[in-house]
Amino acid sequence: MTNIVEIAGLEKRYDERTYALRGIDLRIAEGEWLTILGPSGSGKSTLLNMLGCLDRPTAGSLQVCGVETSGMKQRELAVFRRENVGLVFQQQHVIPYLTALENVMLAQYYHSVADKDAASAALEHVGLGHRLHHVPGKLSGGEQQRVCIARALINQPKLLLADEPTGNLDRANACNVYDMLSKLHREAGQTIVLVTHDESAAEYGDRTIRIEDGRVVESPHPACSVAS
Ligand code: ADP
Repeated sequence: MTNIVEIAGLEKRYDERTYALRGIDLRIAEGEWLTILGPSGSGKSTLLNMLGCLDRPTAGSLQVCGVETSGMKQRELAVFRRENVGLVFQQQHVIPYLTALENVMLAQYYHSVADKDAASAALEHVGLGHRLHHVPGKLSGGEQQRVCIARALINQPKLLLADEPTGNLDRANACNVYDMLSKLHREAGQTIVLVTHDESAAEYGDRTIRIEDGRVVESPHPACSVAS
């Protein structure tokens, strides 16, 4: 089984005294859905930001898709991120005056691609084929988050990272988003790392780890079958 992420002794300090991560060792297999649970302030987002090349560790090794990213310069990180990582956040960051289709096509633009059919297909894949030309204000919160998922996946990232993607959604919309991610994981074998404090989200993934005070406190062995 190939590991898409290999982390050893990862540390992040924001200043001399504030350790956000205190030595994380972690492997994530290709095709796996890993859920990272932990209370607020435990270091979940910091870890996800390292994985997503949005920030750099203070110490330790971080390999994503076989490439050591810990020593990369900001510009290299940005290129690497664009090629390999899809990001979904709690705040949806959709452009309010663009339609769902245009929001997804904007992500293609950063890859110098403009493929309306592929963007439509991505939205159909997340169940929004009938909402292509709606602006975000005419979509529910769950539908807006599904636009974000389509946008994150449009350039076929090897790794999909989601930071509290249902944090702003009611239960029905949250289940809807998780069902959508499950479908992508099951049918396309998408590797997913989900960060959340919502314990019930763990049921959707293959494996769950728990972080407290910048350390992994509970890390069961990987599930036998990661691509069901
Ligand atoms: P979580 O996602 O689990 O809520 P975070 O990764 O956001 O936790 O934060 C972990 C720790 O790092 C917290 O103590 C937080 O205050 C601190 N922290 C996070 N981001 C910054 C930052 N940009 N500057 C300084 N401290 C930060």
